Amino acid sequence: MSLSAGHVGRHHDLPGQGTIEVDVAAVRHNVRTLLELLHAARPDRPAELIAIVKADGYGHGMVACARAARDAGASWVGVATMREALALRAAGDDGPLVCWLPTPGGDFTEAVRAGIDVTAHTADQVSEIAVAAAAVGRPARLQLKIDTGLSRAGVAREGWPDLVAAAVAARESGQVEVTGLWSHFAASDWPHDPANDAQEAAFAEAVAVADRAGLGGVRHLCNSAATLLRPSAHYDAVRPGLALYGLDPAPEEATVAKTELRPAMRVTSRLALVKRIAAGEAVSYGHTWVAPTDTWIGLVPVGYADGIPRAAGNRAEVTVDGVRRAIRGVICMDQFVIDLGPDRPGAIVPRIGEEVVILGNPVHGEPAAQEWAQWCETISYEIVTRLGGRFERRWIDSDESNSGHPKAGTAETQAVRED
Ligand SMILES: *Cc1c(COP(=O)(O)O)cnc(C)c1O
Repeated sequence: MSLSAGHVGRHHDLPGQGTIEVDVAAVRHNVRTLLELLHAARPDRPAELIAIVKADGYGHGMVACARAARDAGASWVGVATMREALALRAAGDDGPLVCWLPTPGGDFTEAVRAGIDVTAHTADQVSEIAVAAAAVGRPARLQLKIDTGLSRAGVAREGWPDLVAAAVAARESGQVEVTGLWSHFAASDWPHDPANDAQEAAFAEAVAVADRAGLGGVRHLCNSAATLLRPSAHYDAVRPGLALYGLDPAPEEATVAKTELRPAMRVTSRLALVKRIAAGEAVSYGHTWVAPTDTWIGLVPVGYADGIPRAAGNRAEVTVDGVRRAIRGVICMDQFVIDLGPDRPGAIVPRIGEEVVILGNPVHGEPAAQEWAQWCETISYEIVTRLGGRFERRWIDSDESNSGHPKAGTAETQAVRED
C-alpha cells in the first residue's frame, strides 16, 4: 500500500493538503469499554457486540476499524450495504458479518457465497434469498427486520407474522438458516421519549411471535445511544456505530464523557499563507467578515470539497499551537481563512507551515466533532462521515507507538476511499 495516497498524486512526494489520522488503538479501547459496560449490565450473559463500520467506518476506514473492533472482542461486524460487506470479505474479514439495506435489483448470490448475513424486510426478499441459496448450493444466513416505530426499513408490524412464516418455510426447505431478528430505535438519544418504551415493547412482542414459530438467532435492537442508556434492550447483541469512534450519540446526556470513550480521528492541515489585512478589509467570497482592526490572517488549504462544512463559515474554530483561532468569512471549495489576531506590537503570529488542528480531542482543547456539529446545526455523524476529498488518511496505533514499535505511525495508509 502506498504511503501517501490521496486519490490525486499518489506517486509523488509533494505534501498533501491535510491529514485525517485515525488511531486504531482508540477504536479498540472504545470496543473494550463498551464490552465492559455490557458485562456490567448483565454479568451472567452479556450481550455481544456488532461493530457498525458502514459508510467507510463513519469516515474512519471500514477495513481498519473492523479489524480493530474484532481484535478488541467484537464478535460481529455490521454494514449497511452488500457491497460494503463484500468489500470486507475481499479485505480478509471472515467473521460473522451482517448487512441490511435493501438494494433494488440486488442479487443475493455473492453475499450467500461469502457467508454474509443478509436481512429480509419482506416475504418476497426471503424468496429471493432462498433462490440465491439454491443457486449457490448452501443455505443463506438470514436475518429478519421488523419496524417497531421508526417507520424506515423493516417489515411493518402487521406484516411480521407473514415474514416469520416465510422464513420458517425457507428454513424447512433447507435454503436458509435464520441467524437474527432485529429492529432499530427512533429516539434512543432522548432516553425519556416514550417512543423508546413503545419500541422495546413492540420488539418483545415480535420476538415472542418468532419464538413461538421456533425461530432462533441473535436478537438485537440497540444502536450506540441505546447501548449506553438502555440496558433493558441489550438482548443478545448490540449494534453501536458512533460510540466505537469515541463520539457521543446522545450529547445531551454526555454519555461519552461518562464512559471515557476516546475520539479516534484527528484532522489537521498546515498554514499555507500568513498575511496582514488592514482594518475595514473584508474576507472571502461575499465579504461576510470585515476586519475590525489591522489583523493577521492565515490560509488553510482545505475546503468544502474536502468535507469542511461550508455552513461553519464565520462560526467554527480551529487550533494553532494550542490556541483557538476563528474561521473568518465563508469556507471555500479548497480553502478557508482564520484569524491570527490583531496586528499590534509584540503579537506572536504563527508561521507558514504551522499545524492547524481542525478536529481532534476536546480533552486537549482541540475542536470536537460535536462542536463542529453545533456550529453547523447537525450531528457529529455527518461531520466525520463527510470528511475526505483531498485529505490523506492514515492509520496509527498509539498502543504500538507507546511501546516504541517501529511500525507505528506508518502502519497503513491507503486511498481516502477504500471502495
Ligand atoms: C447506523 C446504524 C447503527 C449504528 O448507529 P449508531 O447510532 O451510530 O450507534 C445501528 N443499526 C443500524 C440499523 C444502523 O443503520
